[in-house]
Amino acid sequence: MTSPESRIPNPASRLRADTHPPDMRPDYTFDFDPANYTPEDHALWHELCDRQKPLLKGRACNEYLRAIEDLNIVSAGGIPDMRRVSDILEKTTGWKLVTVPGLIPGSVFLEHLSKRQFATTWWLRSRDQMDYLKEPDVFHDLFGHVPLLSNPVFADYMQQFGLGAMKAKGLKATKLITRLYWFTVEFGLINTPEGLRIYGSGIVSSAKESVYSLESKVPNRLGLDIIRMMRTNYRYDDLQRTYFVIDSFEQLFEQTRPDFTDFYAQVKALPELGESELLPTDKIITAGTGY
Ligand code: FE
Repeated sequence: MTSPESRIPNPASRLRADTHPPDMRPDYTFDFDPANYTPEDHALWHELCDRQKPLLKGRACNEYLRAIEDLNIVSAGGIPDMRRVSDILEKTTGWKLVTVPGLIPGSVFLEHLSKRQFATTWWLRSRDQMDYLKEPDVFHDLFGHVPLLSNPVFADYMQQFGLGAMKAKGLKATKLITRLYWFTVEFGLINTPEGLRIYGSGIVSSAKESVYSLESKVPNRLGLDIIRMMRTNYRYDDLQRTYFVIDSFEQLFEQTRPDFTDFYAQVKALPELGESELLPTDKIITAGTGY
């Protein structure tokens, strides 16, 4: 799970991600040689994909499912070569993947987004972290985030988010824009003619949440409302209690296109909302039990 805010390195962590490569550039990127992956890494990648792909059939949105095929994210070769995936993306939506050692400062991550570059972590979780990981690894990034970068509208949304979030910092609204990222890029659901589907990377890369987000009675599922979203607290370390549902990527892009300066002022004047709280004005799709 990652929000731009949570990409700040955690000094307590002893993950391999903390080892900065000697040739790392000031923007935290480096040239990663996929030959560094071990046969165990590739085997674990297959295991993660073999578990996740069947779960996502009929649960993830068609745009995502098509994209993992188009980008050949799940291949016999194991962990895909990011350079190959990046080349395809560059030709389709102008996005590039740049390799980073793990968590990087939020401001650097956002600057990459603003230049249509996705900072992709190289290392893969260990077997005892199959189900939950606090920090992004290559499975979360490449299987979760990267596929939708091949969708033209979502690709534009991501860049727009990067630019908006850089501006938000100057307006002391990082917390508010981080919630937008969390409830869309990481944990977003989308309404389709076939029913609710998943597009958020935190969900598609989690076996448990892929089922829970759509089928559990516990969480609220609410229609998109940007100001409401920016008021809402969320869980960093557990299944979400509220999801926001977009009607289309076009709707998401259009509703986040306006200058947020006025929105921030409105949100700051209102109380924050608990993770399970409901308001009479909510566009309720399902009201959760909350427990
Ligand atoms: Fe993430």
